[in-house]
Amino acid sequence: MAPAPYTSALAQQLSRDVLDRFMRYVRIDTQSRRDRDSSPSTPGQLELGRLLVEELQGLGLGDAELDEHGYVMATVPPSPESARAAPVVGLIAHMDTSPDAPGRGVEPIVHRGYDGGVIELPLGGTRLNPETMPELRSKLGHDIVTASGDTLLGADDKAGVAEIMAAVAHLAAHPELPRPTLRVGFTPDEEIGMGASLFDLGRYGADCAYTLDGSELGELQDESFGALEALLTIHGVEVHPGVAKGKLISALRLAAKVIDALPMELSPERTDGREGFIHPYELTATAGTAQIRAILRDFDEDRLEGYARLLERTVREALADSPRATYELELRRQYRNMRKYLDAAPEVLAAAEEAIRAEGIEPRRTPIRGGTDGSLLSEKGLPTPNLFTGGHEYHSAREWASVQEMAAAAATIVRLAEVWTRSRYAEAMGLRPARAWG
Ligand SMILES: [Zn+2]
Repeated sequence: MAPAPYTSALAQQLSRDVLDRFMRYVRIDTQSRRDRDSSPSTPGQLELGRLLVEELQGLGLGDAELDEHGYVMATVPPSPESARAAPVVGLIAHMDTSPDAPGRGVEPIVHRGYDGGVIELPLGGTRLNPETMPELRSKLGHDIVTASGDTLLGADDKAGVAEIMAAVAHLAAHPELPRPTLRVGFTPDEEIGMGASLFDLGRYGADCAYTLDGSELGELQDESFGALEALLTIHGVEVHPGVAKGKLISALRLAAKVIDALPMELSPERTDGREGFIHPYELTATAGTAQIRAILRDFDEDRLEGYARLLERTVREALADSPRATYELELRRQYRNMRKYLDAAPEVLAAAEEAIRAEGIEPRRTPIRGGTDGSLLSEKGLPTPNLFTGGHEYHSAREWASVQEMAAAAATIVRLAEVWTRSRYAEAMGLRPARAWG
């Protein structure tokens, strides 16, 4: 089979560097861990952070550094003619991988010139079947990277890291190419929802930014879920089961009753598109005490609050017959839908669309059924939509990435830099009110 055409000569030129970097980064175990007691949650993320700083320094980005919380930042200086007018544009990807699938000992495999058939991986009986993966079906002739079958690949989000690095390397090697001041930012612990929590926006100093943490070619994501996390603790009454009649109140049974009473049509397995859900994802229980952890998601804040009220009502009703049982329901905000913050800075999306088109791709605006670092960063005053990376089937042993699409993403970054030196974007950004973080 003839190799799949690249989206541009630039993408083809960048493809080797993107792939080399990607293969290097995925081998480092950077899986994050929930319930962290420090940032980053795991030492492997620091190992990757140190490697990236070394490589950025090697490209001539002398200020590249890893801070005490595990964030990597570096500056690409502007081309002379854009130095005055252009805003500072951030490029962000996360270094950690998901705790939801094995992430140690990743052995990437490149399958050259995909022939449209099933891809069998050597370990774990893992198969990539185009019948059940419509996105794979459209990648005829692409070079597909997978893990070996018993781990995730880590394209989420090392594809994004490799694409930013390759684009920055290209810009560093070609000082004649126009670019504004670019700020690279690699974050830890995104997968546990903490990627933006210790991100020092003042030090970063960008006017807008882009995460490279999406998926299918051409994706430009300007909306994320709004997100709440719920922790429900039920206290029963424990009594020796031999003499428990009329006395024992089983917290475990009450927890099961609560879960059973939550409407199935509001579950992740029954919803898609713009629908939200309530997802109980962890239950620990004894007769004495039970804890349910759940996440609540919707694009609309009112509906999200409605889910919180529904959960509370469900708990009250489930416990109504057991007055001696007590409960606490804690709700914690995780992130907000970034849409309204991005609506206030339309040129950030317009510049991305122009860059994607310049790469010969039709941009596709899609909502993220999840969150990104951009959700919190946008809320904090740094408008940050999400761009495609060419990675697919995240958080699983079936994860894969297309080399041609990763190269397209890297080329899109180079074009985005050029777009931001055009005066109409610089001027539109200049009219924004002062940054919230001062
Ligand atoms: Zn990600």
